[in-house]
Amino acid sequence: MTAPAPKISFVSLGCPKALVDSERIITRLRAEGYELTKRHDGADVVIVNTCGFIDSAKAESLEAIGEAMAENGKVIVTGCMGAQPEEIRDRFPNLLAITGPQAYESVLQAVHEAAPPAHDPFLDLLPPQGIKLTPRHYAYLKISEGCNNRCTFCIIPKLRGDLVSRPAAEVLREAERLVKAGVKELLVISQDTSAYGVDLKYQASLWREREVRARFLDLARELGQLGAWVRLHYVYPYPHVDEVIPLMAEGKVLPYLDIPFQHASPKVLKAMRRPGNQEKTLERIRKWREICPDLAIRSTFIVGFPGETEEDFALLLDWLNEAKLDRVGCFRFEPVKGAPANDLPGAVPDEVKEERWHRFMKAQRAISARKLKAKVGRRLPVIVDETGPTVAKGRSKHDAPEIDGAVYVASRRPLRAGDIITVKIERADEYDLHGVAV
Ligand code: SF4
Repeated sequence: MTAPAPKISFVSLGCPKALVDSERIITRLRAEGYELTKRHDGADVVIVNTCGFIDSAKAESLEAIGEAMAENGKVIVTGCMGAQPEEIRDRFPNLLAITGPQAYESVLQAVHEAAPPAHDPFLDLLPPQGIKLTPRHYAYLKISEGCNNRCTFCIIPKLRGDLVSRPAAEVLREAERLVKAGVKELLVISQDTSAYGVDLKYQASLWREREVRARFLDLARELGQLGAWVRLHYVYPYPHVDEVIPLMAEGKVLPYLDIPFQHASPKVLKAMRRPGNQEKTLERIRKWREICPDLAIRSTFIVGFPGETEEDFALLLDWLNEAKLDRVGCFRFEPVKGAPANDLPGAVPDEVKEERWHRFMKAQRAISARKLKAKVGRRLPVIVDETGPTVAKGRSKHDAPEIDGAVYVASRRPLRAGDIITVKIERADEYDLHGVAV
């Protein structure tokens, strides 16, 4: 008789990049015969994959560790917060182990010590595409780790190091496996997607009997041939991004660019030490839309960065009204422990940050509502994420999962998650669309 498989309870916090790390750890554990359980209570070990990006994320991570300690007591902490273990140790001296981001081996070693695997690895139990935490029809594809930029508000390069890209063939093989397993949408992620391959000097690798260079454009082109939607996240407006727009116009990759602009005032951008030449950005956006009129641009911004004056903020609002981006997130500046921005002069008081945030969101809401209204009457392809008794929830090519809006679809025929259907848009509100399946 074989011993029962040890049970692991897993908490995954943070960004899509952390989610990919969680998927890798879980994949390995499942391959070794561990079982996953949704409850801490009764698990042999709890793993908490933390996020330490901003103070509120840290607080959430500490709370999750606290819960796991209270309900179980055998807890391993990994992820971004694990890169600074002192703070966690001070609060929770009895943790089994603390490891930094991407320290898969150390996490597995700690699990082995706390709850040895019950039997030999049942590798055949593992689906070849690995275990995914996202729904089966979309998957995050991580193309590199780390970052060569040094934005002053960010400690990711300190936590994760400089850019390390995966060879193109390795990324493509993973993407192909995912598509064969039923994935309909690939979400390309990294800290800086457009810098892909710089560290490899764009070295080519062999894929389907031909050489593919580790270059942003080459990879996007190859991914576009796999038969899935391909969505590009965290792209910086470097000049070579222009080259990928024709692929979008041809329908090879989704007409969607996620570019975290963060601000528009040259002075604030300089203080942020943002990559890319921002001055001509509006002009470039105009050209991109000329080549691909259906392009949707999503972005994030920070208001209340140290030194941001009312004039800088007014410039940002003007820029926003001019750029008419499709989807926008906005954060009030929060100091992150260890980030150089904390030492910059001209801290903006909280109430001013708050007031600017509201003005920013109001301006963007109006832009977003106008853009969505313009889609009423159109027929759009929609990927179904969740089904319901009368209305299903999906997304158009312009909406990434979890961060953008949704399309609510009424349908007489039953729909399944992952179906890509045509929807006639009948109504729009500030963030979402509503329509019927045709
Ligand atoms: S580009 Fe800037 S914000 Fe993004 S990970 Fe690199 S340093 Fe951080």
